[in-house]
Amino acid sequence: NPVISGHDVVKEYVTGGETVRALRGIDFRVDPGEFVAIVGPSGSGKSTLLNMLGLLDVPTSGLVELNGLDVETFGDAERTRKRKETIGFVFQSFHLIPTLTAVENVEVPRLLDRTPRKTRDAATDLLERVGLGERLDHYPDELSGGQKQRVAIARALVNEPRLLLADEPTGNLDRDTGDQILAEFDEITDEGVAVVTVTHDDYVAQSADRVVNLIDGTVREDEEAVTG
Ligand code: ADP
Ligand code: ADP
Repeated sequence: NPVISGHDVVKEYVTGGETVRALRGIDFRVDPGEFVAIVGPSGSGKSTLLNMLGLLDVPTSGLVELNGLDVETFGDAERTRKRKETIGFVFQSFHLIPTLTAVENVEVPRLLDRTPRKTRDAATDLLERVGLGERLDHYPDELSGGQKQRVAIARALVNEPRLLLADEPTGNLDRDTGDQILAEFDEITDEGVAVVTVTHDDYVAQSADRVVNLIDGTVREDEEAVTG
């Protein structure tokens, strides 16, 4: 069963009396353990789709289902809860808190956890897993771009999501460092977590299981990558 799927999804924005159709009735599905890349020109609807997958926005019409449940039946509080339980986010500019160490940054999504000791242990395990066991107490400005992104990935995984959404995760990294991030995604999908990324980097798209090519709010191709 898909982690998240959409059928005939339309998203319109109304600004100043004008209506913009950002998504024009698209279908999508993301299965456990899949690595999906969303590509397309600027303004084609990539961010809109990512926001939809992240339950940050709901469609104007059409059906979006998270684990088989229609997201429109969720109230705001439930949508937020499902997002925290199910979905992790990674950004181009990392969005780490500069005054917290690596391990503290990873703990942030669980700050209200009633078992701080377990939270510290989980954060430590995750940082070891992404190869940063020696950097637990370093601050973001003491880390390289690739290391910061790996801290951000660890943070995104701390609540054991089923879906990891990555917005241009390699956009600020060189090719070799980007490859390290792809290797992390590979390990994550091996454990059954689905990863969806918006990317402008061809090498990222080439390593995806599937590429969703958006053009002007429609899906032009949804093809198996040759190099899968
Ligand atoms: P992409 O991420 O591919 O650049 P977007 O999803 O950001 O595309 O945008 C798709 C279309 O929707 C564009 O025409 C954009 O101008 C419009 N759009 C996006 N967000 C908003 C918004 N909040 N209000 C009005 N129009 C928007
Ligand atoms: P994120 O919010 O995902 O961390 P940012 O919004 O900080 O990323 O990105 C920084 C700036 O770079 C933004 O103003 C954005 O418009 C721009 N940007 C994003 N992706 C690209 C890209 N592929 N090429 C050039 N500029 C980009």
